[in-house]
Amino acid sequence: MPIIDLPYRNPIDNNKKILYKNARIIDPLTNYDQVGELLTVGDKIADFGKKINVTADQEINCNGLVLAPGLIDIQVHFRDPGQTHKEDLASGSASAVAGGITAVVCQPNTSPVLDSSLTFDYLRLKSREVAYCNVMAYGAITKAMKGEELTDMHSLVEAGAVGFTDDGLPVMNANVMRRAFEYSKNLGVVVAQHAEDLNLSNKGCINEGQVALELGVRGIPNISESVIVERDLAILEAVGGRYHLLHCSTRQALEAIARAKNKGLNVTVEVSPHHFTLTDQQVLKSGTNAKMNPPLRSATDRQALIAGLQSGLIDAIATDHAPHDILSKEKTIEEASFGIVGVETMLPLALNLYHQKLFKLPELLAKMTCNPAQIINYDGGVIKKNARADLVLIDLDHEWIIDSSKFLSKSKNSPFDGFKVKGRAVCTVVAGKVVYNL
Ligand SMILES: [Zn+2]
Repeated sequence: MPIIDLPYRNPIDNNKKILYKNARIIDPLTNYDQVGELLTVGDKIADFGKKINVTADQEINCNGLVLAPGLIDIQVHFRDPGQTHKEDLASGSASAVAGGITAVVCQPNTSPVLDSSLTFDYLRLKSREVAYCNVMAYGAITKAMKGEELTDMHSLVEAGAVGFTDDGLPVMNANVMRRAFEYSKNLGVVVAQHAEDLNLSNKGCINEGQVALELGVRGIPNISESVIVERDLAILEAVGGRYHLLHCSTRQALEAIARAKNKGLNVTVEVSPHHFTLTDQQVLKSGTNAKMNPPLRSATDRQALIAGLQSGLIDAIATDHAPHDILSKEKTIEEASFGIVGVETMLPLALNLYHQKLFKLPELLAKMTCNPAQIINYDGGVIKKNARADLVLIDLDHEWIIDSSKFLSKSKNSPFDGFKVKGRAVCTVVAGKVVYNL
């Protein structure tokens, strides 16, 4: 079993010194990229540099591999509470650390919805007992995610919400969105949108295009995403606040974000690995395991997403990890549930862009560390003295074949099963403790 220990139920000794030697230390925020040593004391980074003169309690030889801040995934569905047969905080976080992720943001579309401080208490207490990584969550924008009445956003932030979203569903009511922006402005947190005009998506199941025509199923058009983004940005411009676009999938939505950023609006955007890796053609190969919302799009959209990552327009990569049991997926493409698992495949899929020489490594890692941290006001994703000792050791050249049956997630719904990839997390450290070793 590769999982070694729980970092919060069995915390590391406060004074324990661990020296990571012969590591290629990368801090994406400062562009630091040097071979050297890093010292952790308890759950904090104490020092790093070419050579550290210290007598450590334990030495870990990194064999020249990349030592970076642990990855931060700001969009996961761990199904806890409510659908724990698909995933729970223990299995979801185990799956995350196997992917090099040390902090996650759960989406509030659980059962019950994360719309009260009581649900946040549950999340915090259970995470401390069973989670292998740091677990945070967005609060719901509206009560029971019905899209009508705002939650008590002040008390949810006090209870730990790092932002707000009704993800799984869009906020269709423009006035509700306006008021959410007004509150978020005072609270200094993002309102994150699952951008989908439900009338335009019209119960479609995959991208509107040739593949949907071939299969004879209803498609979800690009405008279903972009008209909501355009609307939200118009409201944002009028009332202020902070907007974050979840799992952007289309060229048009990205163009709208670019215009808003040029105007100086407070906007950020994330993209999921499947959207920059695959197109809707994958549905013909993987069937319902290539069905998610927003859907896999055209090659033009995919290229626009890669270009957006390269130019810096896209701030972050986030998985939208959405586990489903076999029954939810063994259905027709129209009836199957939306969503795929993603925390164990994010890093190799992102590294694919690095191996194609489209990115420098610190620049790519920034999209999964310091950038997402800034979106949720989190004090992680960096290597500096006194920072959290949340780290990942990455073997860039490790070639392997993705085998979904080996995922630590309870669910196996992935279109990447059988993909040949290069690079993976070989060791993950949370709060100073090695929690995963390949
Ligand atoms: Zn969503």
